[in-house]
Amino acid sequence: MRRGRRGSGFIGWVATAAVVGAIGFMAFSPMFEREDPKLTLSHEGYWNFKEPIRVSVEDSSGLKSFKATIATPHESWDVVEDNTPSAETKKTFEILPPKGVRRVEAASVTLTVEATDRSLWGLFMGNTLKEEYTLVIDQRRPVLSIVANSYKIQKGGSAIVIFKASDPHMESLKIQTNYGKTFIAQPFVKEGYYASLLAWPVQESTFSATVVARDRAGNETKSSVPLRLKDHVYRVSNIELSDAFLDGKIAELANEYEETAGVDDRLQQFKIINETVRANNEKIIHQITSKVSNKLISDFNPQPFYPLPNGQKVADFGDHRIYSYKGQENISQAYHMGLDLASVQMGSINATNGGNVVFSQMNGIYGNLPILDHGFGLYTLYGHCSDVHVQEGDVAAAGQEIAKSGLSGYAMGDHLHFGILVQGIEVRPEEWMDAKWIYDNITSVIENAKLIINQR
Ligand SMILES: [Zn+2]
Repeated sequence: MRRGRRGSGFIGWVATAAVVGAIGFMAFSPMFEREDPKLTLSHEGYWNFKEPIRVSVEDSSGLKSFKATIATPHESWDVVEDNTPSAETKKTFEILPPKGVRRVEAASVTLTVEATDRSLWGLFMGNTLKEEYTLVIDQRRPVLSIVANSYKIQKGGSAIVIFKASDPHMESLKIQTNYGKTFIAQPFVKEGYYASLLAWPVQESTFSATVVARDRAGNETKSSVPLRLKDHVYRVSNIELSDAFLDGKIAELANEYEETAGVDDRLQQFKIINETVRANNEKIIHQITSKVSNKLISDFNPQPFYPLPNGQKVADFGDHRIYSYKGQENISQAYHMGLDLASVQMGSINATNGGNVVFSQMNGIYGNLPILDHGFGLYTLYGHCSDVHVQEGDVAAAGQEIAKSGLSGYAMGDHLHFGILVQGIEVRPEEWMDAKWIYDNITSVIENAKLIINQR
């Protein structure tokens, strides 16, 4: 009896230990995990009943089964059923409209997704997640039409496009170009109308622009802007570097810049300043001048820019400069992205058109550099200034003296480097300095568009 009692006590202890152990094992073993599978949908809320909805399922123990059902109030379709267990921790399923069903009459469908993992939890049944999503069926593409645009665009130059776009569930409107840049259109005159300036960069051999409207269901409408392309041949300058230049201006700049710290070789200093420093300075310029307001604009009528009274042109916009030194060809290259004008020393620089001062600092080779935002994605910059009279956050009035010309930065003589940018792209300043060009290519297009828009 004693032994038996002792024995049964021992067996009881072993049994208890086994149960505790099993519970412990089940509680902590990955085989018995208790987490539901996690679902992610490629898009929710709207569906064009055409593009697949991608459902990603994640679970640490893998997936035992997956099922997706689409239902209207009257009908129901099993669109995906997968009962093959898989150890993969992430799987993606594509939900397509039920076979043979091209349209649904219902305004919305319910997508039910059920996923069970491979966990042994729940009497080996696993953890099941069942989710329901309501998707508004939208099979209509956005309505898009171009109202007006400039007749032509010149290589390195600017143009305008005005268009109408509408959709009850519009997601995005943009203007895509052949060179990767996307222009952002600003609401224009009346609800549903938009306008944007466009720019053909001087380094690009061709140009095209396409307005793309996309709604939240994934329906897309595209319309290409019918611009006539006009080539313009830019100068290629072969420049021989002189010792005086390398020992003078370049040595002076190399002392100032972080990028040339520890570099003693004069040609190397020049190369870094002409390429790396320039790229860093222009990156700042491009960032600042890429912004466009999303507020409705009702007019845009700039006066021809005349930044430096009696200024004579001393270097062209778009000049492709190739440098050599004592028989070493093509040491470095750069594009000159503005128009150089010179008059007297410390000549008075004017903001012909008023604008917000969005930058006013020293910027490397550009020297003291105020940048003005004239609205509608149009910016002007004024490089190499001696004195600057405006600060970031100021509003410059039309005709106000904003700075004095100088030779700060990479400049050999006192001059103004005058740059114009359209949404972060440098364009030919000559166009915006010419009243006839502005009228023919920009303001008359706006006037025509306003007549059309206001008649509707
Ligand atoms: Zn310049």
